[in-house]
Amino acid sequence: MILRARTILPVSRPPIENGAIVISENRIHAVGSWPDLQPPAAGEILDLGEVILLPGLVNAHCHLDYTDMAGQLPPPKKFTDWIPLMLAAKAEWSYTEYARSWLNGARMLVQTGTTTVADIEAAPELLPEMWDATPLRIFSFLEMTGVRSKRAPVEILGQALEKADSLAHPRCRAALSPHAPYSTSPELLRLCAEAARERNLLVATHVAESEQEFEMFTGACGEMFHWLQRNGRDMGDCGHGSPVQHIERAGLTGTNFLAIHVNCLAPGDAELLGRRNTHIVHCPRSHEYFRHPPFPHKELAGAGANLCLGTDSLATVRKSEKEKIKLSLFAEMQAFAGRNNGVPPEDILKMATIAGAKALGMAGQIGELSENALADFIAVPFAGKKADIFDAVVHHASTVSASMIDGKWAVAP
Ligand SMILES: [Zn+2]
Repeated sequence: MILRARTILPVSRPPIENGAIVISENRIHAVGSWPDLQPPAAGEILDLGEVILLPGLVNAHCHLDYTDMAGQLPPPKKFTDWIPLMLAAKAEWSYTEYARSWLNGARMLVQTGTTTVADIEAAPELLPEMWDATPLRIFSFLEMTGVRSKRAPVEILGQALEKADSLAHPRCRAALSPHAPYSTSPELLRLCAEAARERNLLVATHVAESEQEFEMFTGACGEMFHWLQRNGRDMGDCGHGSPVQHIERAGLTGTNFLAIHVNCLAPGDAELLGRRNTHIVHCPRSHEYFRHPPFPHKELAGAGANLCLGTDSLATVRKSEKEKIKLSLFAEMQAFAGRNNGVPPEDILKMATIAGAKALGMAGQIGELSENALADFIAVPFAGKKADIFDAVVHHASTVSASMIDGKWAVAP
């Protein structure tokens, strides 16, 4: 099949006007200008018209199962005020509610141009049924916590690995997510790092998200420290450096590791993450919801860390008077652009495509339109000037006009 469009935006190379891509089964066979590709290529021709055709967006961090908590938790003054509210909301839900919420989130992501998502699964029991119920390409990170649990770290990990081993799917994959340094033990983090390396698994952990977490690890003091101490957490791992240094000691930092948030850095942390080729996932709307300290974009980018974008969950997006809030990487790109006006739109789009692909070990396969990449792409309406292409994509405000995932239409044009 040949798809023709006013503009092809491969991301991995400059935009092509009056372009086309040739698809063969679930792969991209060729990308180029319409005059170059049209004569020799045989097959069905579909002209998408006045659109930008670009790679499907890669959402590097999400919690689909919390989608229906949208607007339920008011933004807290402090991160430590929010945790008990979230735990209470979760305790009220049954599997039916988690499943409905997960599917609602998946539908929103498809409509808003995500084709691959790194999702944290609080209810892994829902898999693999959820995978079959969506066209999305899903990396399911099985969540593990270990503060209140009486189980040994080796048991917590063993259960997650057993689940991961039981899951096989042509489009989706399991991975590990020890939740955060504050909500787990150093032993669980260390075991996860070891198992992930042995089994070639990805790992995602929330790291240095709040000032309270930073204070807890660097100073063995503050509200989070005392709250967790009251809840029976062994605080012996605090007072030995920053949260980033904590995950480094556990052996997690590396090319298979996604550090989520990373809002608070100690001197040397950015360089360490860059040196280890760790992937950083920034979630701009969740960041705004909590009013965290400014995201250290310059330091991390300067240190050579791979910077990606994620939506986080709708439980941590501020309610809007104007419209119903939705999971959308376009909304995240816009929130990021609003706070970081020195970053060009080309770079913001890369954070939502190529960088996410690299983080998930899928460089060259997704997040770009190139020969032999998977046929994952989207289209957004565009009839403007060439100079405005990247701006138009970053500021695209509605649903996509077409989406193909793995060679099949997820949103038919
Ligand atoms: Zn998260």
